[in-house]
Amino acid sequence: MKINENIRYNSSYYNIYSDINYIYGVVVNGVNGAMDIINKDFIEALKENKTDYFEQNKEIETYLTKRGYLTSLTIVEEKEKLLNTGKKLYDIQTGKSVIVIPITYDCNFNCPYCFFWGNKASKETKKQFINNKEKVITKDNISKIINYINNTDYISYSIRFFGGEPLLTQNKHIIAFLTDELIKINKKININITTNGYTINKYLPILKKISDNGIELSIQITIDGPSEIHNKTRRLIGNKKNKGTFSAIIKNIDKILESKIILKIFLRTNVGKLNYKYIEELYNFYKQKDWTDNDKILIYFSLIYSIDFDGLSCVGKDVYDLNPNKIMDILKNIKDTKLKLLIIKMMLSPHRGLYY
Ligand code: SF4
Repeated sequence: MKINENIRYNSSYYNIYSDINYIYGVVVNGVNGAMDIINKDFIEALKENKTDYFEQNKEIETYLTKRGYLTSLTIVEEKEKLLNTGKKLYDIQTGKSVIVIPITYDCNFNCPYCFFWGNKASKETKKQFINNKEKVITKDNISKIINYINNTDYISYSIRFFGGEPLLTQNKHIIAFLTDELIKINKKININITTNGYTINKYLPILKKISDNGIELSIQITIDGPSEIHNKTRRLIGNKKNKGTFSAIIKNIDKILESKIILKIFLRTNVGKLNYKYIEELYNFYKQKDWTDNDKILIYFSLIYSIDFDGLSCVGKDVYDLNPNKIMDILKNIKDTKLKLLIIKMMLSPHRGLYY
């Protein structure tokens, strides 16, 4: 994008600014959702609409214009653009049917913050899930889902496999049946699987079949820190031998990346009191593996916090409700801009994670 010398550019009316430290700040553009960490001098110039300031640095001016922080639009035109974007998003949302399928409540892990199986899940909650633990989605349930999709008329269907752990080895036959039925449907479908990743290696042929049939596929796998830290929270049930899960999950991700499966992998980290200090170490591990620049991988961090369902608390104070100042403290020392942005996104995200 080239700056047109004859056009007058102004700071966008919809810029939002926030300080990080004495050198950098964050700018977010409310019209298009762009977010960047930039030098505070630039932030001050944007705030005060001193656009002449950028004329000495055409590269920065072009970048800020491309990202929407500088604009040739009037306030009224910007508002119109914002409303149009909102309308488009609304159309996309209303044209989409989201179907969450709890394949099973059973799980091979026993994470302390899990609202099904965690240490702090109330007896009442656990009782409810234990009573239904053996239950797995049936062919009859699946037929009902398929009928629903066949008899409705949404632009797209977003099918989410959820649990417990949806990809337990013993559920392979029913997942194969479900995906075969979904493949037969002649509608726009995407499949997202929220899994702990421990036994996903058993499912590679099924994932391959999904992607070979042109269905958009994504999976979410949680890694809570470098090996030792991850193994403290993402632990196997009845883990008497203290067998960690980290290396098995990493191997499985490697296998997926080596395969020809077309998919996106969302790597999530639940951030709480136990692991916030290890975010950078984990990110450096991802870097070593070249995952930070891999198009198939999307890394994100999510704060875990307590939620009450009808008075039933889910996680313990030892893990959740991290004081945001602690995050700001580690942010100051992080040099990698991408990682800084990921942490800021986590802090700004209204959708803080409960578990997974
Ligand atoms: S958080 Fe997920 S992986 Fe961990 S115990 Fe709960 S269902 Fe299993």
